[in-house]
Amino acid sequence: WSLPGQQGRAALVALKPRSQIDAAAGAARWKVVGLGLGLIASLLVLAYALAPAMARSRLSRQQRDQAERVLAHLGDGVFVVDRDGVVRLWNQAAEAITGLRAPEVRGRQAEEAIPGWTTIQTFVPVADRPGEAEGPSSAETVPVDVDGRELWLSIVAVALEDDTVYAFRDATHDRRLEKLRSDFVATISHEIRTPLASLVGAAMTLRKHDLPAQTEDDLLEMIAEQSNRLSNLVEEILLTGQLDSGSLHVVADTFDPQGLVHDVVAVARSRIGPETTIEVALPPAVPKVHGDAERTRQVLLNLVDNAIKYSPSGGEIEVQLTAVDDRLRFSVHDHGLGIPPGEEERIFDKFYRLDPDHRRGIGGTGLGLYICRELVRSMHGHIWVESEPDKGTTFAFELPAEPLPAPV
Ligand code: ADP
Repeated sequence: WSLPGQQGRAALVALKPRSQIDAAAGAARWKVVGLGLGLIASLLVLAYALAPAMARSRLSRQQRDQAERVLAHLGDGVFVVDRDGVVRLWNQAAEAITGLRAPEVRGRQAEEAIPGWTTIQTFVPVADRPGEAEGPSSAETVPVDVDGRELWLSIVAVALEDDTVYAFRDATHDRRLEKLRSDFVATISHEIRTPLASLVGAAMTLRKHDLPAQTEDDLLEMIAEQSNRLSNLVEEILLTGQLDSGSLHVVADTFDPQGLVHDVVAVARSRIGPETTIEVALPPAVPKVHGDAERTRQVLLNLVDNAIKYSPSGGEIEVQLTAVDDRLRFSVHDHGLGIPPGEEERIFDKFYRLDPDHRRGIGGTGLGLYICRELVRSMHGHIWVESEPDKGTTFAFELPAEPLPAPV
């Protein structure tokens, strides 16, 4: 008997009893089974150990998604700054309020990405828990300049582990109203105090006997003038209130603009000194104007009064009428103080004055041009100004006019 491939050669073969071989095979099989079971058991133990952590992470992912959805739809701006000063979150409302997109802000240092960050950090207190610093004092209103646009943000801040969460809302409108209110009180008090002091002074002096007749006349004239000033002031305030509430009605009528200009100029001439002259320039034919004659008179007189008032050294004032297509233009030109570039729109705002502290000694409420603009608008016209500082100003407004009759 030879072993395969060993033909003709002597070979030594060790034979084991079958029982031994079977026993070894059995032992090997049990080892494999044991190892498999061990592996399964350790996998089960591992899964058992990791299950809570996995569930927690799934739950926190769900919670995070939910929180992000809530933050996205919240009306308040929310942003989160971590302990290294990096912005981690910037929600949709924050984008809408500030105009800064999340990708421009997120992941950047707050001081670089958020305008006014130093002010926010200095003035907004950080509470340890939400609602901890109860009351209005917990929210601070701070100014933020975004690309030249001033925003007032009312901000609260809460510390959260390593992060600080800031929630804010746009308080610009409230702030403007507040400013308007305080401007109103300051301006009106100032405007009332001056004529009132003159009235009291004149009345006290008149009580003395034996005043020369001329002095009495002068004092009475002053009383009439200052009372007139006060009643004009009250009229302006009432009119502003009516314009704001939409309760002012203008008459839809037609009128002759030439007569109106002559009337206004006659009134204005009675108020000027010798250093001022008023010239009138009218075209040969003027169409009738659609609008309320009384309201138009009020607007034109206000513009001529301003031209007189803001030309402290006097000079010539020109009042002009021009037919422009289907409209008629009224313009008032002066050689007075002028209006700095960039202020042409704002002077029509309520209470806006170029000299709010009356440093030049020219009084006023800042309501006149606001009233003019609103009245002209309500008659379907528009008003504007062109000016050169220290050279002069032209205010003009246009109203719809009837077509001129064709020349015969
Ligand atoms: P008021 O004259 O009562 O202050 P107005 O609304 O009539 O208020 O005018 C607003 C501001 O516009 C004035 O305070 C003044 O600074 C400026 N202004 C108006 N008219 C003129 C003008 N003709 N020339 C220069 N500045 C003017």
